[in-house]
Amino acid sequence: MEDLDTPVLDNHLHLDPDHGRGMAAVDDFARLGGTHLLVVNKPSWHLGDLPTDRESFRHVFETTIGVVAAASERLDGRAWPVLGVHPGLVSHLVDDGHSPEAARDLMQAGLDLAAEYVADGRALALKSGRPHYEVEDAVWDASNAVMRHAFSLGADHDCAVQLHTEASDDLTEVAAWAEAEGLDRTRVVKHYAGGELAGPIPSVMSEKDRLAVAAASDAPFLMETDFVDDPDRPGAVLGPKTVPRRVRWLLEEGHDEAVHRAHVETPELVYGVDTTATL
Ligand SMILES: [Zn+2]
Repeated sequence: MEDLDTPVLDNHLHLDPDHGRGMAAVDDFARLGGTHLLVVNKPSWHLGDLPTDRESFRHVFETTIGVVAAASERLDGRAWPVLGVHPGLVSHLVDDGHSPEAARDLMQAGLDLAAEYVADGRALALKSGRPHYEVEDAVWDASNAVMRHAFSLGADHDCAVQLHTEASDDLTEVAAWAEAEGLDRTRVVKHYAGGELAGPIPSVMSEKDRLAVAAASDAPFLMETDFVDDPDRPGAVLGPKTVPRRVRWLLEEGHDEAVHRAHVETPELVYGVDTTATL
């Protein structure tokens, strides 16, 4: 086991012990010096049929919680679940014959269930967002309504919301919506982000060029891989060793302060977690 002498958090990845690498991916992460994981539930349609009601989401949430418990046993630190509804679900539902409004209501119901897990202390944060691809206006409006519902749940339950959105370095309008719902913008995280972002906190994809930008700024940021753990898409995203490897590289480049910012200060700011206490 390598020891990088710092907490090392991957802020967004997926684990699928049934079809993917599962705990072997966690072991790879830990062996290179990784200590903490935020595990996001897979899109619900990957684990079965399209949801029909709020209870349809329970199975994927329970699966993720089980995976997190197993992962925590293999880490020096721990893992936490992030539960929610993938924004791409709106298109699957509309293609299946739902109106955008019916899709909105179903996705909001799934978020309501995810928020119950947060309220019970079984999940750390919520996941929402809007499609990263072009959609018709009614679908876009429905998606924005779903995202705003997630913000209001985050405010009610005092938890962060991770977002999947279009590629952008300026989401100030979205951050203002969060604050209108009562959720501070420091508790809104854009997953798959570049090195700088106006509005929410960026969870930076751990490529060197993006990280160099984030490290050189003095703004809060997180690091992630979006590892999908899908054997059908082996090269789709970064692997589970990437965050610890990039932390080693940042330290070699003299960016000790940026490593502390991404793995200690920003997790405390966004999620209220102490990544040093559990080591
Ligand atoms: Zn993801």
